[in-house]
Amino acid sequence: MRTEPLLDTFGRVATDLRVSLTDRCNLRCSYCMPAEGLDWLPGEEVLTDDEVVRLITIGVERLGVREVRFTGGEPLLRRGLPDIVRRTAALRPRPETSITTNALGLSRTAPALAEAGLDRVNVSLDTVRREDFATITRRDRLHDVVAGLEAATAAGLTPVKVNAVLLRGVNDGQAPELLRWCLERGYALRFIEQMPLDAQHQWSRLEMVTAEEILESLRTEFLLEPAEEPRGSAPAELFAVDGGPHTVGVIASVTRPFCGDCDRVRLTADGQVRNCLFAREESDLRTALRGGADDDEIADRWRVAMLGKRAGHGIDDTSFLQPVRPMSAIGG
Ligand code: SAM
Ligand code: SF4
Repeated sequence: MRTEPLLDTFGRVATDLRVSLTDRCNLRCSYCMPAEGLDWLPGEEVLTDDEVVRLITIGVERLGVREVRFTGGEPLLRRGLPDIVRRTAALRPRPETSITTNALGLSRTAPALAEAGLDRVNVSLDTVRREDFATITRRDRLHDVVAGLEAATAAGLTPVKVNAVLLRGVNDGQAPELLRWCLERGYALRFIEQMPLDAQHQWSRLEMVTAEEILESLRTEFLLEPAEEPRGSAPAELFAVDGGPHTVGVIASVTRPFCGDCDRVRLTADGQVRNCLFAREESDLRTALRGGADDDEIADRWRVAMLGKRAGHGIDDTSFLQPVRPMSAIGG
């Protein structure tokens, strides 16, 4: 079978596929969605398990995708997740498989996901203080996340990574505390700068906590030195903590963009290809899929979708416009 990569006009090749399995969620993180939730996608618009697997198969076999990360919304809400993981892990060449999750319910599902072939998990956790967790996510579920993290480690879904967003006036003083908590439990912590992807459009460049501030705060308690491992296309800039071997990462999407090394492409739950988180255009694969297109045609449409990928997200440009869909509907 012919494998022709997902190349854009700047010479970047996408090999890391982020698949959103649902736009629904059981938390309401304030930097992501409003308290009342959003208008969820109608069921018939969401790809079926077979459709998702077919697109992933085309990505792996014909387009050179090597990593598949399931996200959402909350991917653990997708009933067919273990089966989708199993069928993805059975592809050849076998892609690396992972999920980005809020970990609610992971304490029950981690063993089945590991058995299905899931390699790793990234768990989103912004604070280890119960009240602040409830403030940020609008749900009192910290205990579930902690149980989910423990179950992920026990199931061998390692290294378990933790993603944290710091919000001014809420948890911005907790970076060292969160790092210590993660180090004690063997979780690899990465801070993510808050991005203009919230459904409410309340993000503010002046309000956001920058990578610089996060590192300064961590340095009050830890010695940080640039990690030796090469960064490659990884979004996180890594630092060895207190001489290593543990590291902490900062994903400075806003203040230190890494678009030039981007190797990612996204598929929404309703079958749209997005060549960038911040893209304002999408390419509809679902209509082609349901209209009877064969795998070659879908692969061609996917390749064409990459040609419109811009050099950078342009958040700092005066002409920047936030994408119409929020992060939860794109797949973070
Ligand atoms: N529900 C899952 C979770 O929370 O891990 C997966 C989807 S969530 C949209 C993926 C990641 O995006 C999470 O780590 C979350 O913290 C992050 N995120 C959501 N909104 C964000 C924003 N406005 N800026 C930066 N990161 C954001
Ligand atoms: Fe849900 Fe993840 Fe958004 Fe939080 S960040 S509301 S867990 S989709």
